Amino acid sequence: MTILKGKGIFGGIVFGRIKFYKRKKQAVKRYKVENVEFEINRFKVAKKTATEQLQQLYKKALLEVGEANAMIFEIHKMMLEDLDYQESIIGIIESQNVNAEYAISVTAKHFSEMFSSMEDSYMKERAMDVKDVSNRLLDILLNCSNDSEVLDEPYIIVADDLVPSETVQIDKNKVIGFVTQKGSSNSHTAILARTMNIPAIVAVNQPINESIDGCMAILDGFSGEFFINPDSKTIDALRKKQQEKNEYFELLQSLKGKPNITKDGKRINIYANIRNSNDVSAALQNDAGGIGLFRSEFLYLENSNYPSEDEQFTVYKDVVEKMSGKRVIIRTLDIGADKKIDYFNLPEEENPAMGYRAIRICLRRPNIFKTQLRALYRASAFGKLSIMFPMIISVSEVLEIKKMIKEVKNELLFENLEYSDDVEIGIMIETPAAALISDELAKEVDFFSIGTNDLTQYTLAIDRQNESLTDIYDPHHKAILRLIKIAAENAHKNGIWIGICGELAADVSLTETFLSMGIDELSVSPFFILEIRKKVIESNITNLKENLLCNI
Ligand code: PEP
Ligand code: MG
Repeated sequence: MTILKGKGIFGGIVFGRIKFYKRKKQAVKRYKVENVEFEINRFKVAKKTATEQLQQLYKKALLEVGEANAMIFEIHKMMLEDLDYQESIIGIIESQNVNAEYAISVTAKHFSEMFSSMEDSYMKERAMDVKDVSNRLLDILLNCSNDSEVLDEPYIIVADDLVPSETVQIDKNKVIGFVTQKGSSNSHTAILARTMNIPAIVAVNQPINESIDGCMAILDGFSGEFFINPDSKTIDALRKKQQEKNEYFELLQSLKGKPNITKDGKRINIYANIRNSNDVSAALQNDAGGIGLFRSEFLYLENSNYPSEDEQFTVYKDVVEKMSGKRVIIRTLDIGADKKIDYFNLPEEENPAMGYRAIRICLRRPNIFKTQLRALYRASAFGKLSIMFPMIISVSEVLEIKKMIKEVKNELLFENLEYSDDVEIGIMIETPAAALISDELAKEVDFFSIGTNDLTQYTLAIDRQNESLTDIYDPHHKAILRLIKIAAENAHKNGIWIGICGELAADVSLTETFLSMGIDELSVSPFFILEIRKKVIESNITNLKENLLCNI
């Protein structure tokens, strides 16, 4: 038996035979051509066919994995249309009198090197895409295809790497999981695997080659382990684990529709964190009581220019309507620090996490902020919408926001545009300053939501992005829990409710502590909702309360 270890990117245990997927090498030769025009035309015809294939793939992906994930094929189509890319290919054909295949492969190499050398991680990822789209052109010109190999066999696919177009073509009835030697947990391929519910492992720690083709194997997407030719002891152990996981999953499913109430009668709301309107279906499937954090900045991040008021209104309205009367908390634009957007032209800073970001940008660039507020208030006429503001540090910021809200409402009234008068206004408590003056802030807003990701970074002075400090980035630190407790007490003293929307909300080892503090809502990734419900239902905090809180 051989055990390979990698990063499990989607949980699930599957047993099956290995299909080693080897991309056919496109042997590109350079040869001189007599008729340059004919060669350019060959490229143009291949480009047309590739565009049609990508359109088909986009349609398939749209149905199976949603719009956000299908976008990758739109990006590929845009790459094909890119004038620099086309000019490079045609230029090589014309200047060297050579074949289209050679011109494409040289251009692909040149463009992918250029993308790889870029600082921006989004642009870096495009290196893979330009290779993918160029290989498609070469496949068409050389009349060879890899796709059928991915589709045909009902096996566990093992490959050096899979590009998104290969992943999305996987037929879930035939391919039960995949393992790749390369890849990261944030790659498009990983995101697609999660969305398609395919157990998968990436970045395995040993070289893999064709010799394992056809071997029996077990893929454990929970632990990231891949067992090749497993012995009977391992098979038994993994069958048992699989059964336990299935039973646990079924148990969680049986909790759908149940209220989130502890044994001693304490009720809590469990909401979902989302990035776009496609995520709403996962929230509803997992029985979210509402949306506790809609990170609206993704709307800006996914655009190449400022989204207009109407574009934003359409998305917010869509989410609010899909949630049919359940509370939807939309957080206003939270960019800066790690979330950079080119068209904002933000200055380079020494300490971006402590710099010009979130509400600081909005209050200094009122046109952008007011456009979003107008879209939000217009959407409020279609359901139960609440608005939340990130990175607050002072009461004066809240007063300034409220002044702008008033102006926006007056404008809408004047323009005869409908909005609700019942919009709750809340703030994120994600700076130590906000937690410590939460008694004053609570008098100005309707709710608090604690952003434990930033609260941890700012309280412990540890950059949340710094991989070398992850061992001391400790959201369980007493200082963080104490700040949460202070904010909860101040919220309740002033008659407002308080939730948590940072990652810590999903940590079931703290659910009882949060219940004891009187936290009213936990907002988490949809996948964790039922697990927290289970914990809440099993809890009895009356006897625990004193113990849990006395050490904080
Ligand atoms: C947080 O800081 O905890 C939070 C929820 O916001 P984000 O992770 O988007 O910064
Ligand atoms: Mg934050």
